[in-house]
Amino acid sequence: MPPGLYDQITDPRSPLPIPGRVMAIAAHPDDVEFGAGATIFNWTSNGAEATIVVVTDGSKGSWNPGVDCSGLVDQRKREQRRAATILGATSIEWLDQIDGELQHTPELRREIARLIRIHRPDVVLTHDPWQRYQLHPDHRATGLLTVDAVVAAREPLFYLDLGLEPHRPSTVLFWSADEPDHAEPVSARAFDAKVEALLCHASQSETTMGSAATSDDARDRFIERVDDWLRSSASRFDTDRAETFKRIIP
Ligand SMILES: [Zn+2]
Repeated sequence: MPPGLYDQITDPRSPLPIPGRVMAIAAHPDDVEFGAGATIFNWTSNGAEATIVVVTDGSKGSWNPGVDCSGLVDQRKREQRRAATILGATSIEWLDQIDGELQHTPELRREIARLIRIHRPDVVLTHDPWQRYQLHPDHRATGLLTVDAVVAAREPLFYLDLGLEPHRPSTVLFWSADEPDHAEPVSARAFDAKVEALLCHASQSETTMGSAATSDDARDRFIERVDDWLRSSASRFDTDRAETFKRIIP
């Protein structure tokens, strides 16, 4: 990817050039699908290589207090693998932190910087760490860890002992952004892939998808909701259906 290519995109409705490599860094299994599933599908369909990093183990993702937590972790990994395949992602990195207890630590910052230097993404996508009223501590922590890791990964004097070349991504995109300033259009095909990938997360049917797995009606209502989200986030950009982001040039 030639340096500076992304800086030339100034119209918020102009899709970014198809990146060579992308990395999506999420607190939990299913966050990538909600935040950027259609965009990642669109890019991988056009030749991009995508890596998904899941920071926590997803072990709190149930409303059933009697759930077998280690069984839930295994199930969520299986679901994330299926969803990643639908989105065209070729690798998943698991950081296996305890769900709900994520902290901003030097060790995790270093680990994410290491992954950025290994995978060398043109675009990094993650949670908006400055989203006002974001309640989930893991979402806040993952966004902040990622931003700090991007800075460390690009600077040559950080982590010399890793023996890895520094890497500066061309763009960082925050999903669920407080002040979105960029829209990626969502085609019918990408919409279907996003929904299909979301529905892979059957363990989250009750908690985040309006029980979409329990009946055809509930599933249709969930799909309608996803469609409404994409249309309402697109409306501020006068476009039809889009995933929207805050864009940073690091
Ligand atoms: Zn989450």
